Amino acid sequence: MRAAVLVGPRKMELRDLPEPSLGPDDVLVGPRAIGICGSDMHLYRHGRIGTSVVERPLVLGHEPAGEVVAVGERVGGLAPGDRVIVEPGIACGACFWCHRGDYNLCPRVRFLGIPPSDGALAERVAVPARFVHRMPAGMSWEDGAMIEPFAIGLQAVKSAGVATGDAVVILGAGPIGLMILQAARIAGATALVSVDVAERPLAMARQMGATAALDGRAADLAEQVRGLTSGRGADHVIEAVGAKQTVQTSLELARRGGVVTFVGIAAEPGIPLDTIRIVRTGLTIRSSFRYAHVHPAAIQLAAEGRVDLQTLVTRRYKLDDVVDAFAEVEAKKAEIVKAIVEL
Ligand SMILES: [Zn+2]
Ligand SMILES: [Zn+2]
Repeated sequence: MRAAVLVGPRKMELRDLPEPSLGPDDVLVGPRAIGICGSDMHLYRHGRIGTSVVERPLVLGHEPAGEVVAVGERVGGLAPGDRVIVEPGIACGACFWCHRGDYNLCPRVRFLGIPPSDGALAERVAVPARFVHRMPAGMSWEDGAMIEPFAIGLQAVKSAGVATGDAVVILGAGPIGLMILQAARIAGATALVSVDVAERPLAMARQMGATAALDGRAADLAEQVRGLTSGRGADHVIEAVGAKQTVQTSLELARRGGVVTFVGIAAEPGIPLDTIRIVRTGLTIRSSFRYAHVHPAAIQLAAEGRVDLQTLVTRRYKLDDVVDAFAEVEAKKAEIVKAIVEL
């Protein structure tokens, strides 16, 4: 099978690899559309992400929608030809966190396309059947591939605890920030403020329901947010950038007693937080990592047309062009919001 393999920083190759072997509980999927994610690009650029280091040629990709090609002998309810979305965090199912249902925190998780696990940007990928979700009739492959980033957004809003009528500020209007924005809108947030430093993402935010879209470089950003929230500040601030400045600014945008939720993985470790401010203004600090139990809702909301997944997809490539695709997505970061590889 052909597979997109990262062999070193900024070095992708389209290689011929043996098909993955199929365990008794596995499903063999032939991906038809798969998103290129910020974390794929981070691995491409640096050969590592956080503590995960690429130590051997690695198949990238964790946002596949595709067709079942074969099923293991113990798999029921799925058959070749079924259209599915793969949930890429293969949790162990046996540890303390898996037993609690917090399987996004499984320390033994095998996450597709994150070292040391190969990903799904290939003609075949084998995954346990319990991490495969059926695609509704009529959903496009592309929308199927967009379910993973939407699941991140839904989980972020659930982890934050956004409720009807809340004023929510989202820092970052990249694909994840825009998914969080839409999930917050679905959750019933009334003031939805999107913050970014580029015009195109802010225009998309307005299109997706932001009640205000602000330039993050403005010196009076906190004041502007207070002006939009009856002088108080936001009930919720959700950080989806992972930069020192946005991490620190997030505290200033929340109201007294508000909630700040960190979603972005910071590019640098050890960013200082003003704990005096956190304590004196009674802030609650939360985080949201990947997702657990949200894919079914993400799929249903998408099937009902309650989320705009299409506007985000601004570039499409074929697997044959995957080497150029990564180079182009890297070179045109500001222009390409979300790229999809079609197979
Ligand atoms: Zn992703
Ligand atoms: Zn586990």
